[in-house]
Amino acid sequence: MKYCRFALNGNAAYGLIENTPGKEIITRLLLAPPETHGQVEDVPSRRMEPLPVAEATLLSPVVPSKIVCVGRNYRNHAAELGNTVPAEPIIFLKPPSSIIHPGQSIKRPKMSERVDYEGELGVVIGRACHRLNGDEDVRPYILGYTCVNDVTARDLQQKDEQWTRAKGFDTFCPVGPVVSDEIDPWAGAEVETRVNGAQRQRGNTRDFIFALDVLVRYISQVMTLFPGDLISTGTPEGVGPLLAGDRVEVQASCVGVLSNPVVNE
Ligand code: MG
Repeated sequence: MKYCRFALNGNAAYGLIENTPGKEIITRLLLAPPETHGQVEDVPSRRMEPLPVAEATLLSPVVPSKIVCVGRNYRNHAAELGNTVPAEPIIFLKPPSSIIHPGQSIKRPKMSERVDYEGELGVVIGRACHRLNGDEDVRPYILGYTCVNDVTARDLQQKDEQWTRAKGFDTFCPVGPVVSDEIDPWAGAEVETRVNGAQRQRGNTRDFIFALDVLVRYISQVMTLFPGDLISTGTPEGVGPLLAGDRVEVQASCVGVLSNPVVNE
């Protein structure tokens, strides 16, 4: 299953995507946001004039109440920033106002001299979860997966006691291009980041320090996750700076490529 959110006659609509040879096509209009039904198969839909995904104006596929990010969840990334491997998950929030659509510009703020990309696998919640038990299966709570760029003002992250400013600027959370459930992060999903076509990061969710079920259960002890909420699962090694004029791409297995240009504010 794959779906997207896209512009239709000036409104935001949700579309179900069918894979055809060489092409992805939106064939059905979903009549409610998928997260309100827990799974896409249960959402009422109707046929629409087929629209190739490549020709659609894609929007962020999620409208979360919060974005919960995981810090240092790949051993090699913790090491490259001189950090030790955490004993329990490190979580922080990005504000929903930081979200931008596929293709929209990341704006380097004047306050920062060093803005980095962090390509990550995003998890979209489909059912409210609160204090899940230690052995509870988290899969029924997950609607699907997408790409996230956890854009970070690295100089401000090092300067501030906490990361709200460094992680929270407008445009610092590109998300998309689609949501797919054709991934098994426990078996391994690749996440790759490219800048101007050159590969900068390549990781696999098999190398998570904390597996996805541990993360979801852990976060649910702290805060209730609502349908549509987004978890960004941490970035692999290879983080680096973005400059005006760059184009940054985050690609995850079965989700496609999230591509955003970079400009100065
Ligand atoms: Mg990150």
